[in-house]
Amino acid sequence: MLNKKINKLLIGTNNKGKLREIRDLLPKNIKTLSTFVFKINSPNENGKTFKENSLIKSKYFSKKTNLVCLADDSGLEIDILNKRPGIYSARWGGKNSNFNKAIKKVYHELNKKDKNWVKKKIKARFVCALSISYLNKKIAETTGKVEGFISIKPRGKNGFGYDPIFIPRNKSKTFGEMKPSQKFKIDHRFRAFKKIKKFL
Ligand code: IMP
Repeated sequence: MLNKKINKLLIGTNNKGKLREIRDLLPKNIKTLSTFVFKINSPNENGKTFKENSLIKSKYFSKKTNLVCLADDSGLEIDILNKRPGIYSARWGGKNSNFNKAIKKVYHELNKKDKNWVKKKIKARFVCALSISYLNKKIAETTGKVEGFISIKPRGKNGFGYDPIFIPRNKSKTFGEMKPSQKFKIDHRFRAFKKIKKFL
């Protein structure tokens, strides 16, 4: 099973936006299936790292369906906040994933940490951990990162999540101001997928 080329893959997410994005990033010869068909609830993401949470998801959905499963976990790390929100990136938006609320919390935490933070370059990065599992066995695992800085105010309406406050290194626009086609070529997810393609 594991030595054979993977041609059918379950995408381990109950998030429709993510499912679409992942499908776009995978080679077209791979048949993908979604967890929606199986009506399985998502597992508890109780890992301590992006990698652990990604593996929790890929193993869980594989065991539920007996299919090879790919799952991801991603988020934003801000260095002076001890890498928070990190694995809590989605949770900072509250129950309804309110991204305005999450962004407000980032500014609140930065103000708490250092009143002069706006005069400094606040280092941050987006991280994406991908994993492919079959039942309880990990087949592949990769990580992609994009380094950058926190903008002193949100800019741009494109993308989602923390995109309006993240400026990638050597660029002046935030991800929120970039066209999706520009962002996709340099972001953490694209980098993690590039590495995992050799296992497919
Ligand atoms: P996950 O669904 O547990 O992987 O949560 C990922 C969370 O991290 C999202 O809800 C966003 O808040 C944040 N995030 C991950 N990738 C991005 C991105 O490309 N742009 C903006 N926010 C992101």
